[in-house]
Amino acid sequence: MCIFCKIVKGEIPNKTLLENEDFLAFEDINPASKIHALIIPKQHISSFDVMPPKVMAEMTEFIQKLASNLEIKDSGYRIISNIGDHGGQEVNHLHFHLLAGEYVGRLVGNK
Ligand code: 5GP
Ligand code: ZN
Repeated sequence: MCIFCKIVKGEIPNKTLLENEDFLAFEDINPASKIHALIIPKQHISSFDVMPPKVMAEMTEFIQKLASNLEIKDSGYRIISNIGDHGGQEVNHLHFHLLAGEYVGRLVGNK
């Protein structure tokens, strides 16, 4: 079983930020910014690349609610999903990173 499935089952502890029947948001163990959340479907889906569009639609609403709870809607945030080897994906259970709480720099375009 993958580590995020173990987190969903409660076999690995996590700091939960938001949860419903289908999704879980929790703090990244190695934060890259003041706020660094991981958002996952409870069902094992290996990456964004095989994610059913319906799940994306439901996750969108969940992430927007998380942003509201974290009070970052006005200040802003970034969501990222790493996909496969070239995308730098280390955990093969679909997740979005949410970075916020401070200016998180730019990955593309002008600095
Ligand atoms: P990826 O590189 O796959 O996009 O991101 C995996 C993320 O999962 C990393 O940011 C890493 O810090 C985080 N991570 C790995 N293992 C654990 C864990 O056991 N608990 C938590 N909360 N985060 C983890
Ligand atoms: Zn999994």
